Amino acid sequence: MKTTETKSTSAQKSSATKTQSKGQTVKPKSDAAEGLRELFVDSLKDIYWAEKALTKALPKMAKNATSENLVKAINEHLTVTEGQIGRLEEVFKLIGEKAAAKKCDAMEGLIKEGESIMEETQQGPVRDAGIIAASQKIEHYEIATYGTLAAFALTLQEEDAAALLEQTLQEEKEADTILTEAAYNTINFDASEEDEE
Ligand code: FE
Ligand code: ZN
Ligand code: FE
Ligand code: FE
Repeated sequence: MKTTETKSTSAQKSSATKTQSKGQTVKPKSDAAEGLRELFVDSLKDIYWAEKALTKALPKMAKNATSENLVKAINEHLTVTEGQIGRLEEVFKLIGEKAAAKKCDAMEGLIKEGESIMEETQQGPVRDAGIIAASQKIEHYEIATYGTLAAFALTLQEEDAAALLEQTLQEEKEADTILTEAAYNTINFDASEEDEE
């Protein structure tokens, strides 16, 4: 299947380069994953970095929140997050890889977004509503990630690793539900009352 590519003339090559610069095909890095297993390991390193970054970001969010419920939810999720880091280390061990973190651009961006939401709000119910919004974006990213990782693990016949990833997936879903309830039950309404002042 690759023969036509190998035989391509330099003219064709230069047009291929042009296509790449338009963002249609991405040139792989020298260490690019070749199979699902490598992609799985790379993705584990990504979320390992993300979870560690969250242990630094969550306390700041808790400190900025005023609703007792929300502060409690964030602090509880911090403890859960620490457990998830330990679970990821177990997953690395199970698949015979060294635990390593690789910067997650998405989580870095989501954390930054949370910080700008805080800067753009007065402390109180409005900032609380913003913190919930930012936290749910984070939880949804994690839900997508762990869902994918558990599926990859199953395909790779790493059932024990899959079970651990599935456990974390459930915790992320639970965190998302708790945040939704906090928003619907009180915080969004308190925040909307600030509009009338
Ligand atoms: Fe997490
Ligand atoms: Zn990530
Ligand atoms: Fe990422
Ligand atoms: Fe989470």
